[in-house]
Amino acid sequence: MHETYITHDRYTFSCPDCGNRWSVTYEARHSQDPDGAELCMWSRGGLPSMSPDAGMPCEVCGSVRVTATRELQPSG
Ligand SMILES: [Zn+2]
Repeated sequence: MHETYITHDRYTFSCPDCGNRWSVTYEARHSQDPDGAELCMWSRGGLPSMSPDAGMPCEVCGSVRVTATRELQPSG
């Protein structure tokens, strides 16, 4: 049985180069492909987005060493 469910995951991004920190809430649509592999479609502000773990450049200094940390809170 294939189920699709949506979670709202808030991530904190931290730049080691300039110290910038910011948070983004992603909507994650979880489903399965026909082979049963888990799929996750991310969106941000209603628009399709890369996974938060895929790497996001710093909005201040452009560093690509930004780390993403998922905030621990109930989703939904
Ligand atoms: Zn930075």
